Amino acid sequence: MLRLGNRRSAFRKCFRHLSSSSHHEPQYDAVVVGGGHNGLTAAAYMAKSGMKVAVFERRYLVGGAAVTEEIVPGFRFSRASYVLSLLRPQIMSELKLADRGLKVHLRDPSSYTPIREELRTRPGLTSLTLGQSTEMNRMEIGKFSSRDSEAYEKFEDHLGSLVDIINPLLDHAPLDLNKFLQGSLSEKCSSFKELSPLWQAMKAVRKVDLEDIQEMITSPTSKILDVWFESDPLKATLATDACIGAMASPSTPGSGYVLLHHVMGGLNGVRGAWGYPEGGMGSVSNAIGDCAVEAGAQIFTDSPVESIDVTNQSVTGITIQRGGESLKIKAPLVLSNATPKVTFCNLLAKPQDHLPQDVLDRIEGIDYTSPVTKLNFAVNRLPNFEADPNQVPNEALPLHQSTIHLNCENMSLLEDAYASSVSKQSFSALPMIEMTIPSVLDSSLAPPGQHVCLVFSQYTPYDPLPSGWDAKTRDLYANLIVDTIESYAPGFRASIVGYEMLTPPDLESIFGLTGGNIFHGSMSLDQLYLSRPTSSRSMASPGTPIQGLLLAGSGAHPGGGVMGSPGRLAAKTAVEVAGKSWTFA
Ligand SMILES: Cc1cc2nc3c(=O)[nH]c(=O)nc-3n(C[C@H](O)[C@H](O)[C@H](O)COP(=O)(O)OP(=O)(O)OC[C@H]3O[C@@H](n4cnc5c(N)ncnc54)[C@H](O)[C@@H]3O)c2cc1C
Repeated sequence: MLRLGNRRSAFRKCFRHLSSSSHHEPQYDAVVVGGGHNGLTAAAYMAKSGMKVAVFERRYLVGGAAVTEEIVPGFRFSRASYVLSLLRPQIMSELKLADRGLKVHLRDPSSYTPIREELRTRPGLTSLTLGQSTEMNRMEIGKFSSRDSEAYEKFEDHLGSLVDIINPLLDHAPLDLNKFLQGSLSEKCSSFKELSPLWQAMKAVRKVDLEDIQEMITSPTSKILDVWFESDPLKATLATDACIGAMASPSTPGSGYVLLHHVMGGLNGVRGAWGYPEGGMGSVSNAIGDCAVEAGAQIFTDSPVESIDVTNQSVTGITIQRGGESLKIKAPLVLSNATPKVTFCNLLAKPQDHLPQDVLDRIEGIDYTSPVTKLNFAVNRLPNFEADPNQVPNEALPLHQSTIHLNCENMSLLEDAYASSVSKQSFSALPMIEMTIPSVLDSSLAPPGQHVCLVFSQYTPYDPLPSGWDAKTRDLYANLIVDTIESYAPGFRASIVGYEMLTPPDLESIFGLTGGNIFHGSMSLDQLYLSRPTSSRSMASPGTPIQGLLLAGSGAHPGGGVMGSPGRLAAKTAVEVAGKSWTFA
């Protein structure tokens, strides 16, 4: 395995190659705007299918929101995304990512919810831990409610059967209604094959009650959980999966779908399991990038795309910025890994010349609200939780490898955290926190005995009152997070060696995530399947109204998370358009 520094210079070698051919406009079969994991996935599949491909990434490294960066000297952070589960299994196998050194540490236990003393209903009820073991889950949940301990396994099976319905839809483009209903005979015939995943989904539907499906898709998570369970810490812990990354609370109708989105993956054959990629999330992107380069793709970092060039409603290529100059690159296919908003509103010179007004209006209307602020801490010892204290100082306990849920003792806390953001355009004094410490399982991330602590928090508005994210507000929020962790794990503040905080505007400016939204647009029901990125028929994902322009990022079907599917699906269409054969399943 190359180290990150070496890999970056390998990508730069391609960059010099491009500089030396400056007399002619470089020409490719397809170019990819943005080197996020989806853009790299698209490049790898196209290159493996025999196409001449190049990726242009604006940052100094590839990976987008799936990167590892050394923010504090000696400490390597999964700077944005931090746990893996959703990556489609066929991408793992078709791109042979394990052979390229991608190793993922499965966490068990997977979740730990400490309970502050004042919220304990009985002495000794200090925390809830969940994991792979049925017996442990029964025992842990049984501390709070024997009814819940019986129901939990059934609930997991129930979610599993609902996921079986959605699963076939994740690896196929949604039905193109324009072609299916109004296309030529051959277009109609070809769109029949798009019906096959729908049939598979229908077959899975037969195993589930229709009313359960309707309930899961339309209900607030709180309503669903209230039917199944009675204990507060269990409900609140499960509810976090329904609102993570979403400006939604457990009582938002439709939040149940986000719950499914977070259990639809798996690792090493364990359904719904999440893990830490060795070397951080950048290892996922680097393994995919390596595969693309090995198959012949060229990857250029520090190469912002200025424009996607269009003549007569067809793309002709892109213009990139290089050393203060603009360079035109020709290609009949452009795959955009940038958000739909950036792709259409920032990169097309005159969007109104290429897109009907109603389509433009719909693109402008995509919901990019983000509740997320991420804090990455370098610490010189492990947090020691008052609820389950360490017997040996700085020794990793099983709880340290899990997602640690703070301010998550009951549903009201989550509701209040959300309400402050919406009604007061501010953050709650008790923000919802998910903390992970991947260095417990992966010693390559921090110096011996020291750790990286990744804190995913919400709900933080993009532009908090009274004065946005000015220095004072930043300081206030960072201190609030540190104080919260300190209240559960005394000594945390003193252990901090360095940190960074990424508010929604920071996520937008650093990673190019419109509005700071971690999924390139909310994963709400109105923005999924036929309606992702918009419900305009001329935008059947991954297609666009502009010939040769395809969407290859999380803003396309099936959406966000480190899944790779949008990139793979865009590549599949590109390979077909280029007249090459798709040799994958
Ligand atoms: C804080 C945070 C935590 C998250 N946690 C998780 C998690 O634990 N697990 C999980 O599965 N998902 C998580 N996510 C979501 C997940 O990371 C993203 O949905 C996913 O990585 C997006 O991948 P992508 O390839 O579609 O786009 P991106 O990763 O956004 O990549 C797009 C790329 O395009 C580049 N680009 C944009 N414009 C241009 C231009 N003009 N020229 C050149 N390049 C350009 C950008 O720089 C970027 O590199 C998290 C996201 C965030 C922000």
